[in-house]
Amino acid sequence: MVASKALPVLGNNGGQGGGRKPRWRAARLKSMKAAGITPTRKYWVRPVTPTKHTPRRKVQALGESASRIFVKTKRSSIPFRTCAVCDRPCLGADAVRRRELDESAPDGRKLPCGPRCYEDAKSKVWRKLRAA
Ligand SMILES: [Zn+2]
Repeated sequence: MVASKALPVLGNNGGQGGGRKPRWRAARLKSMKAAGITPTRKYWVRPVTPTKHTPRRKVQALGESASRIFVKTKRSSIPFRTCAVCDRPCLGADAVRRRELDESAPDGRKLPCGPRCYEDAKSKVWRKLRAA
């Protein structure tokens, strides 16, 4: 029976439910964990008009105005990632690059995000801005 062989094998993706997630994803996570790498959680940010309820989810240090702030979201929008070394908020291609760096090695999160990373980590400039 050729037709049945062509069907995807359900429940063969690490028990992650329903067989809906592609198997390469589970395999990737498995091989990363085997290499001692902690997979990253994906976040995005979205520019919104501030309301009474948005400040809670506001991302600090991304710049803001009376008509626009950035909020963190789990829905696909502008890629967002914080550098674990200097605490700099990275956006877009920068965030994608930071995420790839984090997942590149077991100590990937300790790698600098740019030429100013260690300097900024030392002066805590981003840490202060994020806490503001
Ligand atoms: Zn950095």
